[in-house]
Amino acid sequence: MGQVDEKIEGMYQEVLKRNPGETEFHQAVLEVLESLGPVVAKHPEFLERKIIQRICEPERQIIFRVPWQNDKGEVQINRGFRVEFNSALGPYKGGLRFHPSVYLGIIKFLGFEQCFKNSLTGLPIGGGKGGSDFDPKGKSDDEVMRFCQSFMTELYRHIGEHTDVPAGDIGVGGREIGYMFGQYKRITNRYEPGVLTGKGLTWGGSLVRTEATGYGATFFVNEMLKARKDSFDGKICTVSGSGNVAIYTIEKIHQLGGKCVACSDSNGVIYDEKGLDLDLIKQLKEVERRRIQDYTATHKHAKYIAKGNIWDIPCQVAMPSATQNEINGKDAATLVKNGCIAVGEGANMPTTPEGVKVFLDAKIAYGPGKAANAGGVATSALEMQQNAGRDSWTFEYTEKKLEDIMINIHSNCYETAEEFGAPGNYVLGANICGFIKIANAMVAHGLV
Ligand code: NDP
Repeated sequence: MGQVDEKIEGMYQEVLKRNPGETEFHQAVLEVLESLGPVVAKHPEFLERKIIQRICEPERQIIFRVPWQNDKGEVQINRGFRVEFNSALGPYKGGLRFHPSVYLGIIKFLGFEQCFKNSLTGLPIGGGKGGSDFDPKGKSDDEVMRFCQSFMTELYRHIGEHTDVPAGDIGVGGREIGYMFGQYKRITNRYEPGVLTGKGLTWGGSLVRTEATGYGATFFVNEMLKARKDSFDGKICTVSGSGNVAIYTIEKIHQLGGKCVACSDSNGVIYDEKGLDLDLIKQLKEVERRRIQDYTATHKHAKYIAKGNIWDIPCQVAMPSATQNEINGKDAATLVKNGCIAVGEGANMPTTPEGVKVFLDAKIAYGPGKAANAGGVATSALEMQQNAGRDSWTFEYTEKKLEDIMINIHSNCYETAEEFGAPGNYVLGANICGFIKIANAMVAHGLV
């Protein structure tokens, strides 16, 4: 990766000092600050107004206790978070993550990235993120419901259609959003669909929201391929994870003519040379909530590699769609060596800085998460629009809007990279393009 400009270096040191131990947050900040040298050279007013220092400091951070009882009646205590990062462009918007690894540093990295991603969508949304160290895996529906109700009993006072609008992320899907929406409605005595996105279709949800992040990431990669006079047609692809983002990435890859041969979960990798059977994956993961290993029970020809590394499997297009830092420098080098020509990040910050450097040096098409996976939040904003207009759009209409947004994000990142002297560098393009819009709004709003 690049170097932090000398005018900005001190700001990064200050972030390290003010946020000790939050390594993922440090990594996300560094990645953006490395891109901003040419921006402050052109816009000295951003330095005078201390825009970068202000963007690195969340507007509000809420941490709360979440007590609940398991099925045995035992008391459990988890920790809840909501970090309201930046509201220059609109109400805070970003998902909730329920995973045992969650702590403040993870929520802050996600919230920070969310600001730039939301800016890139061109829609009026600020950035935020939340979650808990609660692990929904292995819990009964009743336990998940009691946890969600307790979580919302604190969160409800901080959110609202014009304030902060959470959605899903790892461990938070339609079931969890449903329980949280129910509790919000009960506590406030208000039916306000605009307070959460990712809702069910009969109570304010939007068609295409479930598919949006995976479809959007695939549209983005398709644009990167088109820019190189190439396409998905006949490409061998691998997609890590087997959750929401992974499933709909695989679906769109297949629709666009690619062949996805591998996916994974935190226990292992499935390799199916014939191309993954997505109907089976949906049945296992979405309906039965089982492990990906069970794929081989009916598909004996497929291989399950316990604790395997999906990036060792040769592919032309790789789409990491599980979690942060899942591709390190060595994995990136293996991918490039095996002929990978495009990487599109469905997950947030799935590639380590060493891995990013390998992709940029090899000059393959590399779409960073804050651009490539922005389709999820963009479609959440479309859900908010439908809620505000008491309307619901068709699948085709909504999907076309999503595709247009992704095409637009791609061209903005592409053109910005060219303008700032780094053609083909979508990292620089996304960071600069996302940053400038927020920075201009913050200058306009004065010192707030
Ligand atoms: P899900 O919970 O639906 O699925 C997550 C998948 O990733 C599961 O297969 C899970 O496996 C795997 N995974 C999670 N954590 C780890 C880990 N530490 N190590 C290995 N595998 C892991 O989440 P989503 O699909 O919604 O989210 C996936 C990624 O996409 C995240 O980075 C998220 O921030 C990002 N994203 C999601 C958006 C959305 O709309 N949902 C929007 C934009 C980005 P297992 O079951 O074994 O844990």
